[in-house]
Amino acid sequence: MRALLVGRFQPFHKGHLNVILKIMEEVDELVIVIGSAEKSHSIENPFTAGERILMISKALKKYNFPFYTIPIKDIEFNSLWVPYVESLTPKFDIVYSGNPLVRLLFKERGYKVKKPKLYNREKYSGEEIRKRMIKGEDWRSLVPEEVAEVIEEINGVERLKILLESDKL
Ligand code: NAD
Repeated sequence: MRALLVGRFQPFHKGHLNVILKIMEEVDELVIVIGSAEKSHSIENPFTAGERILMISKALKKYNFPFYTIPIKDIEFNSLWVPYVESLTPKFDIVYSGNPLVRLLFKERGYKVKKPKLYNREKYSGEEIRKRMIKGEDWRSLVPEEVAEVIEEINGVERLKILLESDKL
């Protein structure tokens, strides 16, 4: 069985990893859609699709589980989003999402949809991590080690701080 998980992964954190580890127990392969692929260099979406692919690929490598990361841009057409996703991904049998809109759209197209359990959401959230980066607080402990290395390699924290400055102008 092949599952689909959609996320923005801005950045990929331990909450995402926890969900994926649970999915790995239930299916044989996983398609990871990197949503909002066209978005980057903003406070809410600081990382490019390529950078997010790198974060996920490096963090999951050691689990030796078959997965495919596919960047997909947003479209202003919710009712056509699922067929659009289908046209760019391998066939999948089940969708995992904590996002109510994502669950609704796939359910309406006849997919089996599962809501994964939230894992310490106050701490493990992209928004919290980006906030900590800007404030100079500990964010590394909230992401897999490999993700912290990618963020350091691309000067991700500095990027966020510059984005915040330009937002104030
Ligand atoms: P996200 O990165 O916030 O989360 C990804 C997944 O991880 C979600 O299922 C979420 O519930 C889960 N998760 C996050 N933190 C967790 C934690 N601590 N514990 C357990 N699970 C956790 O991304 P998202 O908001 O779900 O991304 C949906 C994507 O789909 C967005 O890019 C959105 O733009 C896209 N989308 C596009 C359209 C369109 O183009 N018309 C329509 C719907 C959705």
